[in-house]
Amino acid sequence: MLAQMLQMEFDREYDAQLRREEKKINGDSKVSISFENYRKVHPYDSDSSEDEVDWQDTRHDPYRADKPTTTPRKGFIGKGKDITTKHDEVVCGRKNTARMENFAPEFQVGDGIGMDLKLSNQVFNALKQHAYSEERRSARLHEKKEHSTAEKAVDPKTRLLLYKMVNAGMLETITGCISTGKESVVFHAYGGNATEDKVIPPECAIKVFKTTLNEFKNRDKYIKDDYRFKDRFSKLNPRKIIRMWAEKEMHNLTRMQNAGIPCPQVVILKKHVLVMSFIGQDQVPAPKLKDVTLSSEDMKKAYYQILNMMQQLYKECNLVHADLSEYNMLWHDGKVWLIDVSQSVEPTHPHGLEFLFRDCRNVSQFFQKGGVAEALNERELFNAVSGLNITADNEVDFQAEIEALEKMNEDHVQNHGKKLSMFSNDGDPPIYDE
Ligand code: ADP
Ligand code: MN
Repeated sequence: MLAQMLQMEFDREYDAQLRREEKKINGDSKVSISFENYRKVHPYDSDSSEDEVDWQDTRHDPYRADKPTTTPRKGFIGKGKDITTKHDEVVCGRKNTARMENFAPEFQVGDGIGMDLKLSNQVFNALKQHAYSEERRSARLHEKKEHSTAEKAVDPKTRLLLYKMVNAGMLETITGCISTGKESVVFHAYGGNATEDKVIPPECAIKVFKTTLNEFKNRDKYIKDDYRFKDRFSKLNPRKIIRMWAEKEMHNLTRMQNAGIPCPQVVILKKHVLVMSFIGQDQVPAPKLKDVTLSSEDMKKAYYQILNMMQQLYKECNLVHADLSEYNMLWHDGKVWLIDVSQSVEPTHPHGLEFLFRDCRNVSQFFQKGGVAEALNERELFNAVSGLNITADNEVDFQAEIEALEKMNEDHVQNHGKKLSMFSNDGDPPIYDE
């Protein structure tokens, strides 16, 4: 790790020197030469050039090329002598260059689009073939690596990122791993020194979103349909999508914090690593609700608190947790804390109400089994949280009405470009038909 950091510093100094020499040689001559290719830290290499960015607003995706101009159906544009067909070399070449964007993220294609590069079909096809075989080769290598380092929990790049946080004094020490899940690894750390704009909690939890992509595939449903991420999803590479999960968790936690819901406080987000306050004490994380035995009094108290939090989450934060269960609630300081909100969505998400219903089912089943006689059943709880008034008295019909509402809202968005008021937060009575 030290060697890597020294090397990085060395490379930076080398590049700076190179830049000085470049400047000296070029002076203010009209024709200049570039030393770009001799630089150590190449701007298109790895992530090193983005190191200083805490989190990016990916809505504006600077890496996205402008759409190549398309040839109309009839296959040509222009008139007479100036006619241009879709087979035109220049048009074709530009299109091929733009299509390089579709290669795997590891495949460095450089700034061909910015340079108005025109690739002939022959060159493009050769490149494509190469890209595919590279992808397969790197997948094989990757798999090997994955197996051999399974124990180490995080990859070297993440370790470097964590190390930098300690090195910068933000964290005092990283003590160990609290949890390794399919999608994330959570560490405990002691907080370091406060900076001008930030107080670091004495104990922190570090959630590292896993950069192995497989586990995130089944989460598409959450993010693809989330209108907040609509414009940015399709064009992003997998690495960015994982950062987006971390970003989402950060935003959602902040909303909850603002509403006064007990939850971890965000300290900082760096790429796919989210640092937050630790719920627990002396390195011992607070137990999950599924693991504590509460007195019947506490159990009842916990239930009413959760009912309240679900309503707040819906009305004030405009969120549905979407993975709410006794696994994602911690018991600490005599109350329930909500965690794990990277998958949370707004109620108007195309599946938002279904997610809410599932949350309600988990919560009411847990408390009914736990002996809380006052616990509403899942349908009552759903209505109490959402303010909707679905009257179906059985699970199947209820579910069907939920889906109908979601569908209606989707159609409305399609036709009017905006959401229906039934989900709004202004306390209007819900609308069932238009
Ligand atoms: P996953 O997606 O892997 O379920 P979670 O956010 O639920 O990720 O975190 C996994 C586990 O790590 C939790 O069940 C909890 O035990 C622990 N954990 C996560 N965040 C914190 C925190 N801020 N304080 C204490 N423990 C935490
Ligand atoms: Mn969890």
